[in-house]
Amino acid sequence: MKLKFLGTAAAEGIPAIFCSCETCQMSHTLGGKNLRKRSSLLLDDRIMIDFTNDILHYVHAYQLDLSKLEHLLITHSHSDHFNIFDLEMKLIWFTNPGNPSLNVYANEACIQRVNHIPEKEEWERIGMKDLLHFHTVSRWESFFIKDYKITPLPASHVTSYEGEHSCIYVIEKDKKRILYGLDSGWYQEGTWKYLEEHRFDCIILDCTGAFLHTEEPGNHMTLEENIKVVERLEKSGSVDKNTIKISTHFSHNGHVVYDRDYKEFLQKGFLMSYDGLEIQI
Ligand SMILES: [Zn+2]
Ligand SMILES: [Zn+2]
Ligand SMILES: [Zn+2]
Repeated sequence: MKLKFLGTAAAEGIPAIFCSCETCQMSHTLGGKNLRKRSSLLLDDRIMIDFTNDILHYVHAYQLDLSKLEHLLITHSHSDHFNIFDLEMKLIWFTNPGNPSLNVYANEACIQRVNHIPEKEEWERIGMKDLLHFHTVSRWESFFIKDYKITPLPASHVTSYEGEHSCIYVIEKDKKRILYGLDSGWYQEGTWKYLEEHRFDCIILDCTGAFLHTEEPGNHMTLEENIKVVERLEKSGSVDKNTIKISTHFSHNGHVVYDRDYKEFLQKGFLMSYDGLEIQI
């Protein structure tokens, strides 16, 4: 599987839109890998995981041809993961003839979010239902997108939708297995059990808080918690020295600056993601 990290920041980006903190200023000055857009991943140019507010930037920056994209896998309803308004760009007058329909795999709260936007009625009137197909994803219920087996696991990540089942995903193809763990929080016991029963070729972890120290598990993880995840999964044999371990979804609040900090991540066993990073699993 080829993984392309289209963006690697939390919701606000780095530098953040309305911020001039030290992290944002330094990232701004250094440019390059220090600039981060919202987190999204393209798998084998066939499946996009999360559809962010920076989608148009990805198309331009990486010269992506999304006219053929057929599958969108969504983790949860937060706007940096499910930018419902740009789904409108699938309408016939914004695309070319012969454009395939886009399958959107998302939890019930995400689908309800789309159902309640004022534009929905108009979208339906002009034939959007033939262009966008929604599939409800439920925790623990594996499904296939072509020859990719997808297993949604519970994330500990609260949203504005009470009871939303935010998901992290295990993706398997050609005897390789990866964990896409954004925005996970500290795993629930059921999630731990599943992870401990499987071996992973690559784990992609939520590192929103990066260098922060938290006493209590929250909606996201820090680098300290990423390290604890690896320690626990090494005990079960789920990850080993051959597993690629990637930290991503960085917030400016975590005080990371790529050029300054990537070596520290490497010393701790993690590849620090950056926008445009490509990995072959
Ligand atoms: Zn997020
Ligand atoms: Zn900042
Ligand atoms: Zn979130």
